[in-house]
Amino acid sequence: MAKKPEDKPLGMVPLIGCRCRCGHEWLPREATDKPRVCPKCKSANWDRPKQFERKASASQDA
Ligand SMILES: [Zn+2]
Repeated sequence: MAKKPEDKPLGMVPLIGCRCRCGHEWLPREATDKPRVCPKCKSANWDRPKQFERKASASQDA
């Protein structure tokens, strides 16, 4: 770990966060690896909308 990340700018950086369908938001340990379950509600389908709340218009921005 002797190399310095010179190619990465300092300051404000966009972080990849996760938002569960329960409303909980957190930062995963590894941004490249999607968490399996929500750390709060333990839902494995945290990144998917609830099936019973499916609306007619599915053209919503993520
Ligand atoms: Zn959750």
